[in-house]
Amino acid sequence: MAIVLDGKALSKQIEGELASRVKIIIERTGKVPALATILVGDDPSSEIYVNMKGNACKRVGLTSKKIALPKETTTAELLEVIDGLNSDPEIFGILLQHPVPGQINERECFDRIALHKDVDGVTALGFGRMALGEKVFRCATPGGIMKMLEHYRIDIAGKNAVVVGRSPILGKPMAMMLLNANATVTICHSKTDNLPEFINKADLVVGAVGKPEFIKADWIKEGAILIDAGYHKGGIGDIELEKAKEKCAAYTPVPGGVGPMTIATLISQTVESAEKIMFG
Ligand code: NAP
Repeated sequence: MAIVLDGKALSKQIEGELASRVKIIIERTGKVPALATILVGDDPSSEIYVNMKGNACKRVGLTSKKIALPKETTTAELLEVIDGLNSDPEIFGILLQHPVPGQINERECFDRIALHKDVDGVTALGFGRMALGEKVFRCATPGGIMKMLEHYRIDIAGKNAVVVGRSPILGKPMAMMLLNANATVTICHSKTDNLPEFINKADLVVGAVGKPEFIKADWIKEGAILIDAGYHKGGIGDIELEKAKEKCAAYTPVPGGVGPMTIATLISQTVESAEKIMFG
């Protein structure tokens, strides 16, 4: 019987611990630390994600400052908002919800976020330092996945890990984190020939494709560990989980696996940032 990597339960436990730490910060400083969330445009899914992050802040006792910008916002205007948040002493973390409208240079805007406030782990500098094994805030989704693997004591050293997807906020940092944890990592993408063959050799598969049930159960090796980062209408992910459950050793459910861990990691890094800035 496959182990369910229950991100929902684990994130609740993490939030409980964070609430105690936030309480201490408030008692010692009289200040309630804030996470700034920036939403550009009116994409309904992005709005839901930003609201979920704001609600998580509330649950642990943090404030969230929601900044909603019109869809016509320019790169220069967004950079100005980020500059303001970088120098705002009330703000301890900045989240720029991805994706932003096409006219904005998202990379330039991500990279404008001050490293010490980059609690979502999106800056190139943060990525580089993480990749070199330095201790920095990690990109939230892969960071949450690593936390879950650690919690469930899944030893990935020496394992053959296949990450399907190479986006800057998910596939690439995921691959680097797994490599740093001593897995042997293969990154697959849209130009990969013979994807099923790679998946069939994998002890651990990360689905980060953005296509519903794209990774077929038939491709998966008996006893593999399945991490599904996707979420699509109807509560399905990027892996054909319903069928794959019968042959895998462990899997993240959709929903209730990777999603809650992403938010828990963002909030956890915001609390860490507040502690660092306030207590040194
Ligand atoms: P993305 O930027 O669209 O990247 C998708 C990746 O999949 C790309 O690298 C692409 O390859 C690859 N790909 C596309 N078609 C493929 C194919 N036929 N074969 C192999 N690879 C293929 O997406 P993302 O932002 O990384 O997100 C991936 C998924 O994770 C989505 O379902 C998203 O909703 C989910 N997600 C979840 C969370 C969470 O908190 N749970 C957070 C972020 C993302 P190329 O590079 O060659 O184009």
